[in-house]
Amino acid sequence: MRAGRSVSGMSLVVDEMPDLGITRLSRWIFNCYVLRSGDGAVVVDAGLPRVAGDLAAALGRAGTLHAVVATHGHSDHVAGAAELAARHRAPIWLPEATLAYLDGAKPRTPTLGRAASIWPTMIDQPLDRRGVAGFVSGAWVAGYGTPAGMRWTGPPPGGGLVDGQSVPGAPEWTVVTANGHTDDSVALWNPTTRTLLSGDAVLTVRGQAWHTPEIVDAASAAATRKRLEELPVAHLLPGHGRPVHAADTVWAQQRR
Ligand SMILES: [Zn+2]
Repeated sequence: MRAGRSVSGMSLVVDEMPDLGITRLSRWIFNCYVLRSGDGAVVVDAGLPRVAGDLAAALGRAGTLHAVVATHGHSDHVAGAAELAARHRAPIWLPEATLAYLDGAKPRTPTLGRAASIWPTMIDQPLDRRGVAGFVSGAWVAGYGTPAGMRWTGPPPGGGLVDGQSVPGAPEWTVVTANGHTDDSVALWNPTTRTLLSGDAVLTVRGQAWHTPEIVDAASAAATRKRLEELPVAHLLPGHGRPVHAADTVWAQQRR
């Protein structure tokens, strides 16, 4: 079993997982991941508007930024993507369903009551003021989650992520449709290291996986749960919450 090394400088948490080739950067509940691949890296969920600055050191070590990828179009997963992509001249890839929102289709988003239901994850990590401020301002920068629908001021995305395809720039990762939280959610799966980047489909609380109760569609959430639990996940890296590592699978000890 590997153990991540966490460094809390200021309030940015940098969690190095060298065995997995992954760095997690987090402010409060907002996780952003650097996946090393080949001669460079892919960033997943550049969600806070100024995350490019937080990522500078990790990306400096990683080499070329091949792509910026999002697990869904909520602002806390895309608001930093345009600045990061511009700085590194990298393409942005969004889920295929998110692209329709850029064209004006109205996304469904969880109600405030549903959003509040994830409070156990919110109180599980120390509050970071810059994370909160970034979350609030990010809603005005890009993405959806407010009645205004999807905002986008970034460049046209490089393309749409579809189920079963490999992640652009990180071919050891496969895109898995993971709807329920939203209608445009994907997870990323690495079968070699048995690592799942679950986006917001699965959160974590106190070292346990937690299928999110913050959903727009119960039937697709149930289908996602079934599909993801068929994967022998040893390392769960959620959109919100600390990573969970298990000797067997993370599903054995999950929060019910
Ligand atoms: Zn989120």
